[in-house]
Amino acid sequence: MAIRNIRELGDEILTKEAREVTELTPKITELIEDMFDTMYEANGCGLAAPQVGVRKQVVVIDCGDQPLVLINPVILETSGSQTGNEGCLSVPGKCGVVTRPNYAKVKALDENFEEYIIEGEELLARCLCHEIDHLHGVMYVDKVEGKLMDVEQGEEE
Ligand code: ZN
Repeated sequence: MAIRNIRELGDEILTKEAREVTELTPKITELIEDMFDTMYEANGCGLAAPQVGVRKQVVVIDCGDQPLVLINPVILETSGSQTGNEGCLSVPGKCGVVTRPNYAKVKALDENFEEYIIEGEELLARCLCHEIDHLHGVMYVDKVEGKLMDVEQGEEE
């Protein structure tokens, strides 16, 4: 159990493609635990491995319903759209308006390396898309409509 250092905008690793996880090792399990600790400590609702300096396709999400682990996630389907404020733990103190699908269906492996399908709407759909973007080196700041704004207190992802 450990809090890891969150990489911030400008760090090269955030622009790189993350690698697929081929095997569930104790190192990956430890990474997942640390990512949850780091995300909760920072009051975020999602975190991708590149944000803690690891170029692997691992995401953790907790939008309040249940903690989710997504290894090698793939978006299967999206529909609708939602426009709203978004933030990122790698861009502290900022937020901006981003349009995302209102529904996303994602295939991933869980913490036991078992495949499952997760469907999300609204915040969860936004969070899934945002975090999976991180695995492909895409930051939400590139999708912001208008300007990045300052936030007083974060609902950061
Ligand atoms: Zn983010």
